[in-house]
Amino acid sequence: MTDQHAAAPTLSVVVPVYDEAAVLPALETRLFTVLEAACPEYEVVFVDDGSSDESPTILLGIAERNPRARVLRFSRNFGHQAAVTAGIEHARGSAVVVIDADLQDPPEVIPDLLAKWREGFEVVSAVRAERLGEPPLRLFLIKAFYRVLQRIASVDMTPDVGDFRLIDRRVADALNRLPERNRYVRGLVRWLGFRHTEVRYTRAERFRGETKYPFTKLVRLALDGVTAFSNFPLQLVAYLGFAVFALSVLLVLYALFGRVFSGETPAGWTSVFVAVAFLSGVQLVALGILGAYVSRIFEEVKARPLYVIASDSARPTADVILPGQSATSSSL
Ligand code: UDP
Ligand code: MG
Repeated sequence: MTDQHAAAPTLSVVVPVYDEAAVLPALETRLFTVLEAACPEYEVVFVDDGSSDESPTILLGIAERNPRARVLRFSRNFGHQAAVTAGIEHARGSAVVVIDADLQDPPEVIPDLLAKWREGFEVVSAVRAERLGEPPLRLFLIKAFYRVLQRIASVDMTPDVGDFRLIDRRVADALNRLPERNRYVRGLVRWLGFRHTEVRYTRAERFRGETKYPFTKLVRLALDGVTAFSNFPLQLVAYLGFAVFALSVLLVLYALFGRVFSGETPAGWTSVFVAVAFLSGVQLVALGILGAYVSRIFEEVKARPLYVIASDSARPTADVILPGQSATSSSL
């Protein structure tokens, strides 16, 4: 959905914001300084993902001071990937950069992304060469996840790439047309293809505040990534089924031979118990894997909008906006 009344800027910067009141003043200074110098024809699209702190007020203040800033406010917390999606959908620039609000993605890297874009690359990912200030266990698990996903995914996923990247208008338009509700944005961008390159940077510590990605949300994001880009877990269930079946055939033969030829049966309780416990474990895991896919099919089938925008600073009089609707045709 584009605003036709103003000339499209060269660069749009999308910033998802969830309870970031503590970092927004510093972000304002650093981001706008960088942008004024690097690409004066810019806009910043802040997407407030249902913050419950002072963030919305601060954002509106920023938008008042700087007419190049725009604030979209979700009606509640819809999650990081939904906020990124909404920002990209409303961005009008010839290039779109997505950056975290907490200054872990340094705005000072944006000129490097722009330089690569001007060389002709359509997707420029910022790769974390180093990550500072995150607990070792969390880092280890994140690293392991990216390695596994890289192996099993149907598209090439560079490890250590988050959502900090520049995409060309053509990529943004293509991304906006993907109907999937399960928005693992970094995967979708790679799936789209286009000319891709990387810029390396050191991921800073979060400037202030707590991570908004507690472990549960992180696991959910990881599962979204796996289910959206790999059928391997489903194949694994099938392989496991075959393996267990083969094993059980051997056990049956063993039991029958024992009974017929030596008149002995395998000792009762232990063998039955082991078989029951093992098989119910395997079956529950298999069900869980199936369930993960089914629940995502369910999400897609319901076709509920990914987010609801309660207000837009660029159109103060507009009604509630759903994805793919113009601001005036709201029909909630
Ligand atoms: N965020 C969001 N909605 C959420 C969680 C996070 O918009 O439900 C934003 C958050 O404000 C930040 C970015 O997404 O700008 C990344 O979140 P965070 O820094 O907490 O994640 P981490 O860097 O710890 O993985
Ligand atoms: Mg962060």
